[in-house]
This record gives sequence, structure tokens and C-alpha cells, in this order.
Amino acid sequence: MGRRTLIAGNWKMNKATGEADALARELKAALADCNQADFAVAPTFLTISEVSARLKHTGIQVGGQDLHTHSSGAFTGAVSGEMLRAAGCSFVLCGHSERRSVFGDTDETVNAKVHAAFRSGLQPYLCIGETLEQRESGQVQSVIERQLTIGLAGLATDQVASLVIAYEPVWAIGTGRTATPETAQEVHAFIRGWLQDNFPGFVATQIRILYGGSVKPGNAKELLAQPDIDGALVGGASLKAESFKGIAQAV
Ligand code: PEP
Repeated sequence: MGRRTLIAGNWKMNKATGEADALARELKAALADCNQADFAVAPTFLTISEVSARLKHTGIQVGGQDLHTHSSGAFTGAVSGEMLRAAGCSFVLCGHSERRSVFGDTDETVNAKVHAAFRSGLQPYLCIGETLEQRESGQVQSVIERQLTIGLAGLATDQVASLVIAYEPVWAIGTGRTATPETAQEVHAFIRGWLQDNFPGFVATQIRILYGGSVKPGNAKELLAQPDIDGALVGGASLKAESFKGIAQAV
């Protein structure tokens, strides 16, 4: 069976209480007749409960944008995977580039977060990608390889097969500058090849690798047509039901 396309929205620090519910309601209506893909959204921690209540029984998954590595305790300001699960989440982003660059997540922290996600029953979306400087100095493959090697360390084969990888070149996130379909496909093929070399064959065949970085209705079709691009992680264009639907229609 082929890999089912997954379109996931990362709302980042947008949509307060009420606004998030309104967007969820619009999405519910907009995606009601879109059966050709799986859908997911990651609202802020504060609005997860209202969004998951609104999206109950729609099939649209709700997830966290980050999690702490511990279940509970003296970690002021943090939220655990167990808490996300209790609020209605089924997945969580681990190692989004903004968490890495703004909040100091290292590959080792990201790996601990992936383990914490599994421990709490959440599907991790492991986010990886190179900066512009790394791309321009020819380090794309070595950066991706390091992020995968450390990010997936210590996981069981079945866990690796069940998670989602999001390749998001940092220079394309929120910049309006999208990787060309060919550039994105090249890295996705490299990621799948690396999985093929490091895990039993079914892992590379089964795992979904999303592309992220300024995906919008106008460029989604070409990106999603690439053989190793199994969906999209969408920031800006996920904040309007209409543009999210436009991407869904490109599937
Ligand atoms: C993201 O935040 O994961 C992202 C891809 O953002 P944008 O679509 O706005 O580039």
C-alpha cells in the first residue's frame, strides 16, 4: 500500500482562545469533503483543548508544537507529552527549527523529546533541515545525516517506522522562499536512502517524509507530486482555512 499524504498545519504562536476555535470550525467545514489525505494541526498549548473538542470525530489530528522530556515536575513553563495526550493530542512536533534556533534545542534534546513523545503515546514528527549557510557550504547531507542519526538514536525499528519526518530547510521557513520541487525531492530521496541503509527495508517504504517551507496552494501540487514527498508541514498558509484547503486540494 502506498503512503497516504499528510498535510499538517503548525499554527506557531498564533490564534488565541476563541480565534483558534473559530479556525478549527472553519477547517472542519472546509475539509469535510477532502478524503484524499490525512490532516493535522498543531495549535498553541493553551488552545489544544478547545481545538481538539471542536475537531472531535473529524479525523483531523491535533498535536503539540513541542514537549518537555519529563512527565511532570519542577520545570516552570514546560508542558509534558502526558499533558498533551490528556488534552487531546495524538502527535507532537520535535525539533522544529524555531525550537532549535530560538530555544536552544540540540540534536540530543530533540532525541530525548522523541523518546518522551513515544513514552506518552504521541506520534513524534521529527523536524530536520539545514540552514542557508550549511547549504551554501555543501553540508546539506552531513547535517541531515547528523540530525537523523542523533534524533532517532535508541528507538525501536517499529517506532522509527511509525513516526513522521519533516524536512524543512531553515532558509525556506516563513521566508516565502520555497525549495524547488527538485531540490526538495533530492533531500527527501537522500533521507529515504539513509533510512534504507540503516533500518530494515519496510521502514523506508512506510515512513512519511513531509516537506515544510513556505508551502502554499500555488506551489503544493508540484511539491506533492515528487515521489519521496509524502505531504507538507505548513506554517503561514495553515492560518487560514481557505489556504489550508487549497493545499489539501493539491493532493
Ligand atoms: C513551519 O513552521 O513548519 C513552516 C514550514 O512555516 P511556513 O510554511 O510559514 O514556511
